[in-house]
Amino acid sequence: MKTDDISYFRPAIAAMSGYTPGEQPKVSNLIKLNTNENPYPPSPQVDEVLRQFAAGKLRLYPEPMADTLRDVIAALNGVSRENIIAGNGSDDILTIAVRSFCDAERPLACPDPTYSLYPALAEIQGAPCRRIALNDDFSLPEDLAAQAAGANLLLLARPNAPTGNLFPKEEIVRLCAAFDGMVLIDEAYVDFAADNCLDLAMNCPNVIVSRTMSKSYALAGARVGYAVSQSETIAGMMKVKDSYNLNMLTQRIAAAAFQDRAYLRQTVNRILATRARVAAELSRIGFAIIPSSTNFLFASPPDGDGGRYFELLRQNHIIVRYFPGARTGRYVRISIGSDADMDRVMAVTHQIYG
Ligand code: PMP
Repeated sequence: MKTDDISYFRPAIAAMSGYTPGEQPKVSNLIKLNTNENPYPPSPQVDEVLRQFAAGKLRLYPEPMADTLRDVIAALNGVSRENIIAGNGSDDILTIAVRSFCDAERPLACPDPTYSLYPALAEIQGAPCRRIALNDDFSLPEDLAAQAAGANLLLLARPNAPTGNLFPKEEIVRLCAAFDGMVLIDEAYVDFAADNCLDLAMNCPNVIVSRTMSKSYALAGARVGYAVSQSETIAGMMKVKDSYNLNMLTQRIAAAAFQDRAYLRQTVNRILATRARVAAELSRIGFAIIPSSTNFLFASPPDGDGGRYFELLRQNHIIVRYFPGARTGRYVRISIGSDADMDRVMAVTHQIYG
């Protein structure tokens, strides 16, 4: 047995602080706009699956590769089952990618700021992480491929988080051609954006696109994500995933929700309308807003003090996300909630800056 001051953990794990997810407070009467959840329920088809599901089925293991779900996702994306891997949320897909492509000699690269899970995954894997600063307006630096050279995996959220902007597709096309490692384009928010990079994943051997059902499909609690790529890449990633990484109930819920395209369009359109209204109203008060292609706004209040706005909203029982730091600290990230919730945000905001 080791003495108290000697850790059994690998030094990298002992030294790291770990990724901090947005808080999930237990108290009611809060307006919760901190983790980009969908204010509307999932498709009614999900209720139907839950009504019909018999607990006795849980005696058996689920489909290990989620083939039924992969067939549904593949058909609706115009690709084949072999081009899809399903994950326990897209965080699982990201973990699988970092485990597949990174180690001490094979660094990860990602922009800064971006989804803060990426560097944490590199740390767990014992891989160096090269963080490449975005331009002042959070656009991609022109020499990103050169700065990332030598990394084996580039993680790129498009639309980016927490900034919400959509890097122009031509720049992504050029980047994927110029970079000689794997590029994973994290399209967690793509259903709120004008275009996507699925064609790149199918046509370029070094591109993977990942998606989630947590945001646009309102299934954050069910944990479903997937990636699309050429079949050789998917086959390799399959070796890395947990044997049964998606539980049986989630596989069925996800297949039902995925097929309800009309419901997806309807709820996404409602969120887009609310986003446009709130962005316009915040702009009128003097907020600087990064043009959003997501279900959230990255908004800087008139005095540029994101931390103060975050605290004042909190005192009014509205929880948003604040990322301290020289560049991000001027902003808060506000998830788009229901119209009633956003009316309350606007009322409080007018009181603060009116
Ligand atoms: N990618 C990005 C950019 C995100 O913001 C999130 C949500 N935190 C995820 C991936 C993960 O989503 P999930 O694991 O719920 O699919």
